[in-house]
Amino acid sequence: MTPEEFRRHGKQVIDWIADYLAGIESNPVMSQVKPGEIRRALPASPPERGEPFESVLSDLGRILLPGITHWQHPGFFAYFPSNASGPAVLGDLLSSGLGVQGMLWVTSPACTELETVVVDWLAELIGLPERFRTDAAGGGVIQDSASSACLVALLAALHRASGGRAATEGIDRRYTLYVTSQTHSSLEKAARIAGLGAAGVRLVDVDPRTLAMNPAHLRELLAADEAAGAVPAMVCATVGTTSTTAVDPVPAIGQVCRERGVWLHVDAAYAGVAAICPEFRWLNDGVAEYADSYATNPHKWLLTNFDCGVLWTADREPLLGALSILPEYLRNAATSTGSVVDYRDWQVPLGRRFRALKLWSVIRWYGAEGLRAHIRKGVELAAELAGWVGADPGFELHEPHPLGLVCFRPLWPGVDDADEADRATLRLMELLNASGSMYLTHTKAGGRVLLRLAVGAAATERRHVEQAWEQIRWEHAALSSTMR
Ligand code: PLP
Repeated sequence: MTPEEFRRHGKQVIDWIADYLAGIESNPVMSQVKPGEIRRALPASPPERGEPFESVLSDLGRILLPGITHWQHPGFFAYFPSNASGPAVLGDLLSSGLGVQGMLWVTSPACTELETVVVDWLAELIGLPERFRTDAAGGGVIQDSASSACLVALLAALHRASGGRAATEGIDRRYTLYVTSQTHSSLEKAARIAGLGAAGVRLVDVDPRTLAMNPAHLRELLAADEAAGAVPAMVCATVGTTSTTAVDPVPAIGQVCRERGVWLHVDAAYAGVAAICPEFRWLNDGVAEYADSYATNPHKWLLTNFDCGVLWTADREPLLGALSILPEYLRNAATSTGSVVDYRDWQVPLGRRFRALKLWSVIRWYGAEGLRAHIRKGVELAAELAGWVGADPGFELHEPHPLGLVCFRPLWPGVDDADEADRATLRLMELLNASGSMYLTHTKAGGRVLLRLAVGAAATERRHVEQAWEQIRWEHAALSSTMR
């Protein structure tokens, strides 16, 4: 493709995206295709001769679009939001256009230095302590995901707990990781990858109402495990759990970690970005005093297209100790002076995309003010929805609901069996999702199925939440009547 052809097709692509976003509400939120349908519609073998780019765009609309679940649809309330935005798409496009691979400072100094600036900006915006800044002993790095962030944090924690032996001798003792039943599954995955195994993952009790970690139980478990010869490597506190946005008490957990000298990782993948608003700064309570590492995902709720997760550490030495290997073919003068950051040492892969460009575009386009307005809109709409749910005798609201996620349980009068009631709840969810006007997911808390409605897509306005709630009530009443 010549630059002129690129210019022409590039304009078509931008028009396609703009039209798609402008008309997104005409699509069913959740793709309604059957497994294999898309694959069968595509040629089994690649073309021998090149095809016009128009054919790609036409097949995108004709074949692929029905198989797309529209995450940017205003009726998308599933999982957590995965915001996209114009400046992020354009920043990503610029990154693709530059085609930079920023594994070392020398392979594109601006890629590294912009990343340092942007993660420091974000640290300032969400009120992270000075020690997480690159000019202090710590620093931030953009990862592909919070899963990678927690793996990298665990590797750094193991490095510290083992005095560096994990890198040289491997896992030669029983290292342990502390989580709760509510911690994201990526922590268990990280433990498996790091060689701790499922047996190395210790479950700390949660408060049965709030589902937040019980620090007293953490203290007991740590003492018992150490007495039994284990080496506690890391505690993961979650600020905004995936299931219900429970917030672990970081100050009390941090106190226990400090007593025992254990690394504290704070996983704020979804909720952390809300701290950009002063009224949600409490989400960071205890982070300044106690956290060794902290992660949040601008690719969830901060208008930055997937993928963009940021990890900060208060001390970069264990991280570099765990991950730094310098083969001959990567040696260069800048690295050997020790005066530059080589982000390849802060992550699992060697190569890295220029992700800072999209986060930079987002922060500059919206400004702190615009980002705060986006977060506030989600929280306000969720609070309003929670008010409607709480006031309706046909539903039970799960509390607390501090941010954009509202969890609730439809009640099924006349159904005494809990399993049958749970099946009815899941049936209700299927009906709602099949309607095409919204997409919800579920979770389990206290042994019962709850529906989760996460507000936070950039296009979601009050009318979309109101319509969704009306439809939920209507479908619930209709389904209830068939069960009596
Ligand atoms: N941690 C929490 C609390 C999450 O909610 C999620 C995803 O929803 C993750 C980690 C994993 O995020 P990612 O998809 O970026 O790996």
